[in-house]
This record gives sequence, C-alpha cells and structure tokens, in this order.
Amino acid sequence: MAGSVSGPLVSTGSVSGPLASTGSVTLIGGGPGAVELLTVAAVTALQQADVVLFDRLAPNDDLTSLAPRATLIDVGKRAGSHPVSQIEIEDLLVEHALAGQRVVRLKGGDPYVFGRGSEEVLACHRNGIAVTVVSGVTSAIAVPAAAGIPLTHRGISHAFTVISGHAPLTDNELEGLALLGSTIVVLMGVGTLPTFSQGLLRHGMPADMPVAIIERGFSATQRTTVSTLSTVLADAAAAGVRSPAVLVVGEVVRLAFSGDTSAEELVARAAEFAVTDR
Ligand code: SAH
Repeated sequence: MAGSVSGPLVSTGSVSGPLASTGSVTLIGGGPGAVELLTVAAVTALQQADVVLFDRLAPNDDLTSLAPRATLIDVGKRAGSHPVSQIEIEDLLVEHALAGQRVVRLKGGDPYVFGRGSEEVLACHRNGIAVTVVSGVTSAIAVPAAAGIPLTHRGISHAFTVISGHAPLTDNELEGLALLGSTIVVLMGVGTLPTFSQGLLRHGMPADMPVAIIERGFSATQRTTVSTLSTVLADAAAAGVRSPAVLVVGEVVRLAFSGDTSAEELVARAAEFAVTDR
C-alpha cells in the first residue's frame, strides 16, 4: 500500500527510485465557482504551479493572478461534448509532471465528488508520479446553502444522499431513496429530471414534496426554482432550467422561506421533536 495521510492534505503514492526527480501533481477541489471558497491549501498550490489544467466549473476567472507563473490549460467539458477527453487530460497531467513541472489539476467542487479525481490519481500512480489531493467545497452542499437551503435540520432530516443524475437511476435506487425519506441532492440531474421525479412518485414519495433547482450557484445569474415533486417537470420547463444546477428534494427546502407559514409549521414540528428527543 502506497500513500500516507498528513495534516489536512492527502498525499498519495510515493516518489522513489529513478523517477524521484519528476514533477508532481496536485489535484485541487476549487469549490463551486466563488474564488472566496478556495481553500488556503488550494491558493498556495496555485501560486507555486508551473501548469494548471482547469475545468469549466472551477473558479477560473482569476487564474492569471492566482497562478501567476503557470501555463493555463482549459480542459473544460460541456454537457454532451468533451473537447478534451478524460484520457487526454490524464496524459497531459502525466506528461507535464514527467517533464519536471508542478502540475495543478483544478476541478470544480470537490475532486472526489463525481469529479473523476480518483481516475486521475490512479493515472499518476501508474506513472510513478506523486499526487496530493486538496479537498474542495462541494456544490452538493454549498449551492443549496447559497439558496438558503440546509441539507439537514434536527427533527426534519438527519441524512442526505448525493446522487449523480448523469444516467437514469434504477428502480431499486428510486425505491430506496423514496423509503429513506430524507434529503436528496442530485448533481447533473437536469436531463434525467423526468424519470427521476416520476420514479420517486411511483415509489410513494408525496406529490407535494418540495423540490428546489438551483442553477449557476455563486454566479451573478444564480437562480432558484421551487416546486413540488408532481409539478417540477412543468415548472422546470416553464422556467427553462438548464445545467449546471443542483436539485434538492426534501422538506428542508421549506427552510429557505423563513416567515412562510409552511416553513414555520415545519420548524415548530421539528422543535417539538428536538424536545422529546432529549
Ligand atoms: N465535483 C463537483 C461536481 C462535479 S459534477 C462538486 O463537488 O461540486 C458537475 C455538476 O455539479 C453540475 O452538473 C451541477 O449539478 C453541479 N454544480 C457544480 N457547480 C455548480 C454551480 N456553481 N451551480 C450549480 N450546480 C453546480
């Protein structure tokens, strides 16, 4: 087993033998787009980088000042089309690191949440390159928060499931989610919204279960569409909802509306739970 854990950063792999003089790769989670949500470790690695390979959803507006020494390579992928394939990205990482450079791979959110970060770490390991992973703020939590939605609230939801909507869920998965009865967060879920919402309804989730869709979190055009499970398809179509967006299904959506009657009733019920729960 290679790898060690030191401090908040996870160093994986080891540099030894003939490749000891090669460069390195730092895989950075850049958060959901706001430069303020970069970690100190991310900023430090960017400052020292010789090469930065960045994504569409990573905070990339200020990269020239964040990484002043670095050659910047845009490997951003858009839904449905892949200008630079995953294999090509891995080859670029390896190639630059073997040439002795400090390579930063800047990804949106957290690198290990549907980010293919693990595949890139493995590619580096296969080539004897040391990799450090810097965790990032995931959009799964931060984008709902930016819309005022907490994923958990004592007495309302004590779990959340983060799922990829890239491909339709299986019937078993839909049934499991409906049975679990806690908060569901879907990334990449705009395209599969029809099968997802219909599937949850089919498995008995209440038709009036609140659903929020938050598009372009942390941008000037962030927008939240609030609906229910039975009306979300029509509402999303009417609003022209598009990717990138985070979907939240669950009672916690009501908490974004403090002052609203149903939100206040929910909080009152939750408070009762908290008392009996002591
Ligand atoms: N690793 C990333 C997720 C990559 S999958 C993370 O941890 O956040 C890409 C999906 O993330 C998008 O399709 C969208 O569902 C979500 N996403 C990422 N950034 C977002 C943002 N600023 N606003 C809305 N959704 C976002």
